[in-house]
Formats: sequence, C-alpha cells, structure tokens
Amino acid sequence: MAYFKGFNTRAIHKKRTNVRKIAISQPIVPAVAYAFDTVEDASKTVNNELDGEYYGRYGNPTSKELENKISSLEHAEDALAVSSGMAAISISLMYFLNENDHVVVTKDIYGGTHKLLKTLASKYNIQYDYVDCANVNNIENSIKMNTRAIYIETPSNPSLKLIDIRAVAKVAKSNNLPLIVDNTFMTPYLQNPLTLGADIVVHSATKYLNGHGDVIAGVICSQEDIVKDMRKNIMGDLGQNMNAWESYLILRGIKTLGIRMEKHCDNAHKVAKFLNKHSAVKSVFYPGLPSHPQYDLAHSQMKNMGGIISFEIKGDLQSVKKMINSLKIIMISFSLGDPETLIQHPASMTHSSIPKKELSNFGLSEGLVRLSVGLEDSDDIINDLKQAFKFI
Ligand SMILES: *Cc1c(COP(=O)(O)O)cnc(C)c1O
Repeated sequence: MAYFKGFNTRAIHKKRTNVRKIAISQPIVPAVAYAFDTVEDASKTVNNELDGEYYGRYGNPTSKELENKISSLEHAEDALAVSSGMAAISISLMYFLNENDHVVVTKDIYGGTHKLLKTLASKYNIQYDYVDCANVNNIENSIKMNTRAIYIETPSNPSLKLIDIRAVAKVAKSNNLPLIVDNTFMTPYLQNPLTLGADIVVHSATKYLNGHGDVIAGVICSQEDIVKDMRKNIMGDLGQNMNAWESYLILRGIKTLGIRMEKHCDNAHKVAKFLNKHSAVKSVFYPGLPSHPQYDLAHSQMKNMGGIISFEIKGDLQSVKKMINSLKIIMISFSLGDPETLIQHPASMTHSSIPKKELSNFGLSEGLVRLSVGLEDSDDIINDLKQAFKFI
C-alpha cells in the first residue's frame, strides 16, 4: 500500500483482490451463484465467518473491486455498491431509523430525498425536520428524544450553500448521533466527509463517479461492521444491489475522476467569472467566487470548488426560459456530472413539485438556473451562454 499514495494512483490501480494473474482492466463476473468445496464452507460464507460471495443479491466480485476502490478514495473502512443514489440514501436512513424515530435533515436537500421522506418514511411513521444546518445551533435546537441521525448535503442543490461538516460532526458526536453526508456534488476527489468527522458518506455514482451519463448507481461508505449489516440485512433483502456490468463501467469511469474533476472545476471557475460580469445576470452562486458568503469555509473543507454553478437572471420567467431554449451546445437536462454541459431550470424542472410560495425555503427563485459545467472547451461554453443572453 505504501506505493499507492496519490488519489489518481489509487483511482487507477487500487490493489486488486480477485485475480491472481492480473488482467489490467477489471473482469466482469456476471455469475449469480458460486460453488463451494464443502457444505461447511458454504455455511460459513453465508454466516459471515468466511469472506466471499455466495448469491448475487448480496454481493458480486466486480462490485467488490469497486467497493474497495471507493473505500480507498473516501478513506473508509468499507463501502457498499448499490443500484442508485436513492438506494444508498434509503439504505442509510433505514439502517438508523425505526418506526417513531426522528431525523434532522438539512433544509435544501436533493429532491428525491425530500420525496422519500414525504412519502415512504411517513408511511412508516418516521419523523423528520428540515433545519438550516448552516447554523449548528439550529441543529442542537431540533434534536429530540427520539432523534436517531443527522442528514446533510454540502454544497446544497441548487443554491450551493455550504454546511460546515466539522462543526456538524461535533454536534453529532456530542449527542451520540450518526452524521450522514451526501457527497455527490463533490466526489471523494474534492471532499472527504469521513476525515472531517462524518460517519456515513452516500454518493449518487450516476453523476461524477461514473461520469459518462450511462449508469444509475450509488455507493455508501462507512465502518466495516455497518457496511456488513447494511449489505446483509437491507440491501440484499430489498434487492438494491449493483450489477457487475455497471460496476465495471464505474470502475472505468473512476480512473479519470481526478482529471475530470480538475477540468470541471477549471471550466466552472471560468464560466462563473464570466457570469459574474455579465449585465443579464443578477447573481452567481459558486463557492469559488470571493463573493460567495462561505468562501473561507469552502477552502477549508473542499480541495476545489466543483462543477456546479447556479445563477439568477434579470428578467421575467419568460425571458429565462427563452434564454435556456436558445442554447446551442449546452443541453437541457435533469442530471449533472456528465462530460456535456447541462442546464436546468429548478422552478420548472427538479423542484417543480414545490409550490411557488415555498420556493424561497429552498433558496430558489423563478429566475434561478443551474448549470453542470462539462468538459468541453471553456470558450465554447461561454460563447454559447453569451449568444443566448441576447434573447433576454
Ligand atoms: C442524483 C442525486 C441523487 C440521487 O441519485 P440517483 O442515482 O439518481 O438515485 C442523490 N443526491 C444528489 C445530490 C444527487 O445529485
């Protein structure tokens, strides 16, 4: 391991477990079931006394390679590869929460997590409060007798407000509560919540980790005993496993995670500076701009500022839509983290289920636009925005 120090070296090489004579790219093992030499070995494997796969719903050797690689990149003891980001989030919440338990949740949260709490969690009488976690006193004040976890996401979506992970982890520890962090926007290249005191990290691997817009997947990083329990008693039983083919694609994607993130950040920085100076733009939200109110916090917990920018346009809803519809290279889409620059209008798209009056609770207005800056040449992205701004 002494040789595998740097992020990019680990992203590419991470010591392999399953193949003795090493094929350089990871093998895809599609097998559902595995044969054992003896009944005793089979019994020990299913009872966790021997390591190894036994049935595909509870784990797969190609997925195991991915889990090892992610653990290394997130500085975790272990990781679990699952079928989507929402599977990672729901498993993590289900692990800590039983009927009548309560969870403190950051207020501007990913739309899918919001919907999960509103519909499914409520059905099982799991209680939650949305709290502005940027101020840790708010968290202290919202912890109840039956609170069992704290759940945050930083930077937030889409307003790019930050939460101080170290400060929240301190509150969590002093109240004996686990802290779950959604690290999708940052990836392990830019931010490592476990080293800042968090207990669980969840990712939508659909976004930057795979990075090519062709897989839905998720990962959970935590301590070995927690991951084992989640695998055996939640993921496997609910059938939320990731399959070998998709694990292979993500393993391939991760080899370039470091260089992709550098380029995403570099492009985003240039685009943010352009937007900041443009007369059609009212305000820009990007942690890499000195005008961001949490610029110092950003630099203390993030290695670089990421590829997501939000900005508000001067003008009415009609002109915002006209601008977006006039883009030539930038594509209108719900996702993020792809090589292509993607744009979306939260009030009409990702957050359209939220009533107009409540938009401001999510740091949203009708003029707000979210950009996932891709890997194209930055001048082309900027020129595309420039020509579209003429329609405002
Ligand atoms: C996309 C996303 C998710 C959900 O991931 P899926 O892979 O679509 O299930 C969760 N959190 C954040 C921040 C996301 O961007």
